[in-house]
Amino acid sequence: MVRNFQKNKALNPHALSIEETLNLCGCKLDGLSDEDVKELRNLHGWNELPEISAMPWWKILLKQFKSLMFIILLVAALIAFFAGHKTDTYVIIAVVIINAMIGFIQELKAERTIYSLKKMVVHKARVVRNGVTFMIPSRDLVPGDIIVLEEGESIPADGRLIEAKNLQCMEASLTGESIPISKDCEAVPVETVIADRKNMVWKGTFVASGYAKVVVTSIGLNTAIGEISRTLSGIKREKTNFQKKTNVLARQMVIIAILSTISLFLASYFSGDYEMDEIILVSMAALVAAIPEGLPAILAIVLAIGSRRMAKRNAIIRDFTSVETLGAVTTIITDKTGTLTQNTLTVKKIGGLGNSDYHVSGEGWSPVGNFTKNNKIIDPNNDKILSRIIKIAAISNNSEIKHNIQKNQYELMGDPTEGALLCMSRKAGLSLLEEDKNQKLDDLPFNSKHKIRATLLANREIKELLIVGAPEKILQLSTQILTEKGEVKISDHDREALHNKIESWSEDAMRVIGLAYKKVNPNTEKIDEQNLGDLVFAGITGMIDPPRPDTRKAVENCKKAGIRVIMATGDHINTAIAIAKSVSIIDSADNSEILALSEKQLLQMDDLEFDEAIKNVNVFARLTPNVKLKIAERLQAMGELIAMTGDGVNDAPALKRADVGVAMGIMGTDVARDAAQVVLADDNFATIVAAVEEGRIVFTNARQTSFFLVTTNFAEITTLVTLIFLGLPMALTATQILWLNLVTDGICDISLATEKGHNDVLEEKPVNKKEKILNKIVLPLILIMTVIMTSLSLIVYFHYLPEGIEKARTTVFIIMAFTQLFNLYNMRSLKKSIFNIGFFSNKYINIAIFVSILIQIIIIEVPFFERIFAFQPVSALEFIVLVAMASLVIWSGELYKLVKGKLALGR
Ligand code: ADP
Ligand code: MG
Repeated sequence: MVRNFQKNKALNPHALSIEETLNLCGCKLDGLSDEDVKELRNLHGWNELPEISAMPWWKILLKQFKSLMFIILLVAALIAFFAGHKTDTYVIIAVVIINAMIGFIQELKAERTIYSLKKMVVHKARVVRNGVTFMIPSRDLVPGDIIVLEEGESIPADGRLIEAKNLQCMEASLTGESIPISKDCEAVPVETVIADRKNMVWKGTFVASGYAKVVVTSIGLNTAIGEISRTLSGIKREKTNFQKKTNVLARQMVIIAILSTISLFLASYFSGDYEMDEIILVSMAALVAAIPEGLPAILAIVLAIGSRRMAKRNAIIRDFTSVETLGAVTTIITDKTGTLTQNTLTVKKIGGLGNSDYHVSGEGWSPVGNFTKNNKIIDPNNDKILSRIIKIAAISNNSEIKHNIQKNQYELMGDPTEGALLCMSRKAGLSLLEEDKNQKLDDLPFNSKHKIRATLLANREIKELLIVGAPEKILQLSTQILTEKGEVKISDHDREALHNKIESWSEDAMRVIGLAYKKVNPNTEKIDEQNLGDLVFAGITGMIDPPRPDTRKAVENCKKAGIRVIMATGDHINTAIAIAKSVSIIDSADNSEILALSEKQLLQMDDLEFDEAIKNVNVFARLTPNVKLKIAERLQAMGELIAMTGDGVNDAPALKRADVGVAMGIMGTDVARDAAQVVLADDNFATIVAAVEEGRIVFTNARQTSFFLVTTNFAEITTLVTLIFLGLPMALTATQILWLNLVTDGICDISLATEKGHNDVLEEKPVNKKEKILNKIVLPLILIMTVIMTSLSLIVYFHYLPEGIEKARTTVFIIMAFTQLFNLYNMRSLKKSIFNIGFFSNKYINIAIFVSILIQIIIIEVPFFERIFAFQPVSALEFIVLVAMASLVIWSGELYKLVKGKLALGR
């Protein structure tokens, strides 16, 4: 049976009829059996394309030796060698190697994290096997599989249509064609080009609308897109925004480094007190110390740690630019249904004209519950109106409720609104059999522009159209209404009564749906979208969808963080207001005249009024994706940085347009996920806020780490230059400088990258997106460090000089090493006191400091290293005194934060 198209393109499925195609594949409509799948898998492998793979470790290793730093150090080693400083040469070579190893490990780690996150968004396919429909990872498809496609899904493999209803596909990624292509099952001539093979669908493209059943003809590299990807050699990686920012930062720091080295060089040269080779070696060492060689890797790690923390909090990052952009977001435009609410919609009320409504009991997707009217349980099948409503709800519906036996719970496949309607029908015991004698001829899925869905149904005798959607819309399309007495014309009075009912149900935060039907001409074969009028109104249903428990807190956090939350929903304005109030998007104390606006009201405004409205109103209802996009664009023009959620096909443009597009992982469509930068694994609004928090921490950590490097390097150089100006012997040798740098830059800065934030990042206004990482707020810190390091060094230098220059250097070395280590504590937060955040709340910092101290003690006290670095022993007491002196860094850092905090409060 394994004859199929995968290996034999000449068979041209597009030129064959459906039967011929199925025959050739040897498959039936109820799909492959498990044995078939196994056999086919062995033959054809997995349905996957080669991915951009992680950079191999040896390339990362080689990269370490291609840097400027490496060349400088090599030159320094050569100079030392020819000037006869053998030990210096060895130390420099050791530094080169250790440096490369640290860089290698850091980069490897960042690379691996980023790569593993990239693989977290898995595409799924709905496959029919052994007569059962279920979801599998797209990778598991084999040629011959029958798959089902619906609006918004990405197409997992190439295939030949065997059933299609209003199918339209977006094939831009394959053909460049930007408008959706209509598809049908008719065979086309063999020579038809790919773009015109209307009976085929292609891997990597999307379903724009409609429904289809497809037999898979080719998978993996044999697909049309696979052929293309084969011809493209490696895929280029793009630079992210953050990388650009960090490049600016690196350039700033290189300039600082070069300027200070030049001043060091000139000062020592013109003082005339030093040998040329000493001058060159020390200058080079200083240059090496000042250039932040580890910075790019460190920042990559900051980013990687940030995205991993976001992933842990359910926000999966698809595009790494957005990690940091998230932190700068000023406005979040969010959906209501499913994001702010739980998405477990449950029909509670059913009604029509008249006062006595029906009530439905039961919770969740489980199809058990009773129908009551006037507090009496009734059999819905004996009630003319109710049974009609239930039938429409069950049939004009594309969702499925399944009983998961393992978990013993009911699960929904499909749209929750339709799920709620289906669940209601199941409670009425509407048998599957009943549905079977009906035949769905055509189905128009719900779309958020028209806000209705429709099904053309052939019953044995008659054909009818069943329509479900936003109630005003349904009412507007209806001319008659179903009553106890049969179908009657709707009077104006009835219309008003129904309107009032819709309004009042929505005020109770209910999502209201209208249902209608009409008989159509027996030779109708398709739904005519233009001709949906003249309906018979059957009734309305009201479903509840409670807010998620953590939404309110998250919205409040946003407000504190200076982030505006806007609700943009397609739902009724009253429902929108009710939910907005309950999650505090609208303040309960807010008594402004306009709490919310509907699209209709927005469209009546001129541009000025529109701008004014979106500045002040936070809830927009009955919105279509176009206007949602316009709101985002206008807010961006006012300088807002926007994160926007979306789930449907029509949301894709808005998601692309937003600064950060956020798609839903559970309910969202593949189209939306593909257009977004962030995917919420739990569809939860609170997760967006968590991601914003992590984004801010990323920025703060990047800033703190670079401030740390700048302040210590700068203070070090200043100390050296000052001593040179005084015409005294250099305070440190070249090897000592290199070693000092290795320890601070190599071990300590990476521990700063792991800082977790101190619950204060959401208490401030968002930083400007354009703000540089290194800016002038670092100046006071540089000043403090420089003054302390220089004065302490001078003091110990002069104190110990009588005991010989080597002793003096040893003590200066200890001072410098420990001031830098202590500065780590300062940099853990630029605002909060270390006593407040706790000395032990970041274990990596303490480990780094412990290791550094150990290394310092070893190289000073172990005779072998002592000789290499030309140190002199210091006594325990001397050591303690020196460390205590160095701790001045912390005390002054604390004082600085205290004063700054007071000043900020005073303002
Ligand atoms: P949102 O998801 O923001 O609530 P939608 O645009 O999805 O908004 O829905 C707008 C209105 O359309 C809803 O208030 C409801 O009345 C109706 N509606 C939503 N989904 C469906 C559906 N699947 N079938 C029929 N009507 C629907
Ligand atoms: Mg919706």
